[in-house]
Amino acid sequence: MKKCLNCGYERQPKDEGIIPTTECPKCGIIYSKMTPPVNEEAHLSREPKPVAGAVRGGILKAKYIVIIVLICACGIYLITAKSPQEKLDSKLAEWMAAVDSLNRFEELKRGVESGEIT
Ligand SMILES: [Zn+2]
Repeated sequence: MKKCLNCGYERQPKDEGIIPTTECPKCGIIYSKMTPPVNEEAHLSREPKPVAGAVRGGILKAKYIVIIVLICACGIYLITAKSPQEKLDSKLAEWMAAVDSLNRFEELKRGVESGEIT
């Protein structure tokens, strides 16, 4: 168990899960701020902050929120994307009808010019 160099308190198993392992349960000092890393927790002290774990947890939560938002956005996109497609289809049908009537007009004009229709 880790012993605090500030107050001499030795960490007890009961402290785990209540007090962060980076913090002294008695005086509340951050171990890594007090002493240079000498043991297996050396990698922890290299983190920018002693609360790096908590920060990482927050980032993870934020990532989940982003993923959920993206899924929602995709769902909304898929629902709304259908109507522009339908609009496009009806527009295309309008154009086809316009082209068709233009063709008929051309036929009629040709018929008048050739004297078939008076
Ligand atoms: Zn202490």
